[in-house]
This record gives sequence, structure tokens and C-alpha cells, in this order.
Amino acid sequence: MENVIIIGTGCAGYTAAIYSARANLEPLMLTGTQPGGQLTTTTEVENFPGFPEGIMGPELMTNMQQQAEKFGARIEFANVDAVVKTEAGHFEVKTGDKTLESKTVIIATGAAPRHLGIEGEKELIGHGLTSCATCDGAFYRDVPVCVIGGGDSACEEADFLTRFASKVYLIHRRDELRASKIMADRALANEKIEPVWNSVVTDYLTDDEGEMRAVTLKNTEDDSESELEVKCVFVAIGHIPNSGFVGDLVDTDDNGYIIQKPGRTATKTPGLFAAGDVADHYYRQAITAAGQGCAAALEAERLLAESD
Ligand code: NAP
Repeated sequence: MENVIIIGTGCAGYTAAIYSARANLEPLMLTGTQPGGQLTTTTEVENFPGFPEGIMGPELMTNMQQQAEKFGARIEFANVDAVVKTEAGHFEVKTGDKTLESKTVIIATGAAPRHLGIEGEKELIGHGLTSCATCDGAFYRDVPVCVIGGGDSACEEADFLTRFASKVYLIHRRDELRASKIMADRALANEKIEPVWNSVVTDYLTDDEGEMRAVTLKNTEDDSESELEVKCVFVAIGHIPNSGFVGDLVDTDDNGYIIQKPGRTATKTPGLFAAGDVADHYYRQAITAAGQGCAAALEAERLLAESD
């Protein structure tokens, strides 16, 4: 029987692991399908305290992993299918044909990129449709591409893509960016970025090989339609929390974010905690996820101490 199983290895998961390992709880971490979480798909992180020159996202995550392992956290590559609570009051974590048992569980599974929901969208992933500029940007040199969205992610991706693309269209459904001022100003000042305001993508158009060649745009003010030639579409319209596998052990809001007790990381089920982007739709920062991971580990530690 484990003391604590941490599901997810992003900022929240690793911070929970560092704290619970230092409390001698010997945490077991289960990676999920994206070890290291969302920061492994980003470039420079400029706002994580302690790195005045910034740090590359993947490097930050490797550092966190090493720090967690140094204190005894164990990491297994596994995707969790379900978590159930037994009559005896502990948890069964089901992964493939294996069932692990634990006294407490910390869910730190983060969130996955949202897509537009256009027919055939999933099949286009890898053929000119992606949510990761750092992963795929370099494939699109000297050709026009577009980014959909108006938040920090969209601005960051657009900025990064100007290293490769001949032109980056930033397609936003309104006429004002949601992004923070510094990110918005940086994107709009970039000569290679051209904002396309009040527009939504209604269709993806492919060439004979099935690769992206253009998008259909609809103007949200007058409903007029136009075609924009791009070789790749980078979708940056937010995320969907990875909470589906927990079932009714937790309550979620309308968008699937796990509801925590006010000011806590505890969920409605004693011994089950949620930390980071899977529960936080408001801040969604690396540092706030790390903070919640710390809080979840402290809450788990206190609960275990009380029950001993
Ligand atoms: P976000 O802030 O939720 O922005 C999503 C954008 O997509 C919004 O502009 C939204 O439009 C648009 N959108 C949503 N659904 C759409 C749809 N169906 N069709 C067209 N457009 C749609 O998400 P995010 O940019 O991923 O950022 C998430 C969080 O991470 C934020 O807190 C952000 O500050 C943070 N972040 C920080 C950094 C950094 O500091 N380096 C980098 C990236 C992200 P509306 O504006 O009209 O709602």
C-alpha cells in the first residue's frame, strides 16, 4: 500500500512529489501520456521565480524531476484509467491491467489543448494542424502559417513562429487580444505577425496530399467568408482539464475542472486532492500549479499523520 500516489508529472505533480518525498512518504508518481506536462512543449519560461535570465520549459521540468527523485520519489510511465475508493477507505488506481493501492491520491493531470471541433480536425493533426509551435514550427520555414486565439499562448506561439515562417497570421474572434499587455504588445509590434481581427476559422482546406493549404474565415461582424492560404494552423484557444478518469469521486464545473474545497486542494472525497491546471481555470501558471502541488502534499501529509 502506497502512502501517496501522484498522477501527473507537470509542475503541480513534481512539487507535490518533492514535498511528500521530503516528508518520508515515498511518493509514487504516474506520468500520464505527456511526462513533464505542458512546459515540455514551450520554449523560454520568463516568469518562474529564481531564473532571472529565464529557463527553457523542458529544462525546468528535468530539474524538477531530478529534485523529486533526489528525495526518493519513484516515477512510473503509466496512464491512469480510473481511480476508485474501496470500502476499506483507501484508493485503487487502475492503469492498464495493473491496480495500485494508496492511502491518498493527488491528481495533477493538467489540461490538454482545446480544438475547434471542425469535422475531420483530428485527422489533420500532423498534416498542417497542431497545438505546439515549439514541436512543429521548424517544419514550416519560409511559408505562411496562422495561429488561432487571442490569449498569451497565441501571442507566444505567433512570436516564436516568426523565426521560421514567412508570415504569421494571428486570427482572433474579437478585435482585442485577451493576452497580457507585455505579450500582446510584443506580438503586435512584430512585423511578421499580421492580426486578423473579428474572424473565426470555419473550415480547413487541404491539397491533393491531404496537407493543409488554406483556411476558410468567417467575419464575425458581417458574416462574410474568405480564404486564407497557410501551410500550417496552430490552434491556441485554451485547454480542457484531464479529469474524466476520476469519475464521481470529484465534482467538476461545467468545463470539467475539478472543484476543490475553498482555499484548499482537498476534493469532496477525503484523501483525494487535486492540484494545478486540472482544477485551476483562473491562474493556470506554472508557479501557481507548483504552489498547489505543495499545498496538496502538505494536506496529504497532515491527513496521513492524523489517521496514524
Ligand atoms: P486563454 O487565455 O483562455 O485564451 C484563449 C483564447 O482563445 C482567447 O483569446 C479566446 O477568445 C480564444 N478562443 C477560445 N475558444 C475559441 C473558439 N472556439 N474559437 C476561437 N477562439 C477561441 O488561453 P491561453 O492563451 O492558453 O492561456 C491560458 C493561461 O496560461 C492564461 O492564464 C495565460 O496567462 C497563461 N499563459 C502564460 C504564458 C506566459 O506567461 N509565458 C504563456 C501562455 C499562457 P476570447 O478572448 O474571445 O475569449
